[in-house]
Amino acid sequence: MTASSPMGVSRPQVKSLDEILPREPLLMMGAGPVPIPERVARANSVVINHLGDVMAEVIGQVKSMARYVFQTESKWVIGVAGPASAAMEMAVANLMQSGESILCINNGFFSHRMAEMALRVGADVHELHVGVHEAADPERVRKAIEEARPKVLTMVQGETSNTVFNHSLEEITKIAKSYGCLVVVDAVCTLSTMPLKMDEWKVDVVITGGQKGLSSIPGVSLLAFSDEAWAAAKNRSKPPAQWCFDIQLAENFWHKDGYHYTAPVSGIMALHEALKLVCDETLENRFARHLRCSKALQSGIQGMGLDLFIPNESRLNSVIGINIPESLTAKQICQHISEMYRVEIAGSFGQPIVRIGQMGEQCREHNLFRTLHAFGSTMRDLGIKVDQPNGMAEMESYLQKTPRPLYQVA
Ligand SMILES: *Cc1c(COP(=O)(O)O)cnc(C)c1O
Repeated sequence: MTASSPMGVSRPQVKSLDEILPREPLLMMGAGPVPIPERVARANSVVINHLGDVMAEVIGQVKSMARYVFQTESKWVIGVAGPASAAMEMAVANLMQSGESILCINNGFFSHRMAEMALRVGADVHELHVGVHEAADPERVRKAIEEARPKVLTMVQGETSNTVFNHSLEEITKIAKSYGCLVVVDAVCTLSTMPLKMDEWKVDVVITGGQKGLSSIPGVSLLAFSDEAWAAAKNRSKPPAQWCFDIQLAENFWHKDGYHYTAPVSGIMALHEALKLVCDETLENRFARHLRCSKALQSGIQGMGLDLFIPNESRLNSVIGINIPESLTAKQICQHISEMYRVEIAGSFGQPIVRIGQMGEQCREHNLFRTLHAFGSTMRDLGIKVDQPNGMAEMESYLQKTPRPLYQVA
């Protein structure tokens, strides 16, 4: 209890941030947020007028770089001050109206979130449940579309929670488009870590956040609409209930140099730098870097004698799920590796796994070695027999036999 004061609520006694934060920053190898490059961190300290010529130029560049990263010529790139979930909600809230049918492919925790959002809009929500270890099957999706006749189909490219990769995304999109559905893809985890060709694959909306594949900060997110999806969102009979997420209002800021709400200036600066780093590196080199690092880490983990959660054909490379030995919990492992080795990894939402991220800055060789060493040592410290020298050797030999792509050092 704090003593009452004549001024009303009394002043709290709090620690300084320096006292709270660890002396040595933890290496963020979980499922996001991921480490940010120095240039991104510096940009994140900039505040300028949120309206005016300088901001307009920055926004223009953010949009054109985003078009490259999304692989779309569509004009309709917009951002939102909020987590990736805010971008998901923006897609759902603008495309759906009460009573309209939507089909959500549910691969787990995150892809189910779209269905929750659609329910709140009052949509007629259908969910196609996919087994925990599997990718969505195009023929099952076709059947579900024939039954639900949805206006919109939603799916995730990489389900971060159970580390499943929906490898048939392009084929599923093609099927959905043949029934006249708009296709919304959550690429929060995967964007810029693996191919996603919005225009070529005819995806209508792509959603991403800052803190995963893009290696920016959390709290500013991007999405792109196809012309068809933009028109569908504009031609609705009533505006969406959420004023902040209304794309017609967001258009004022993102396309007309006008005011909607005060933009998250610093976060947009950070995102600008993160996108610039993707452009400098090129998508091809970035995909190759992610693939090489993730596969090397996977061979290292398996080389120690541990098992990966998802079979090779539907395994996500952007986040790796590792089975937990029966005698341990995810919490024990995550706590130990953090306290002893200053490396952060993640537990999971409901699965018996720990997860190590391979997104953006996490995919650097020095980070792989530190992480695999810390992980193997943690297992040994906690009484699990692992062949750590073999794991380290397997990782090194994978790296040696796979050419290192050219990359811009951040
Ligand atoms: C992390 C994540 C989200 C949610 O992102 P927030 O920024 O926490 O809202 C959604 N979808 C996927 C696939 C994710 O990995």
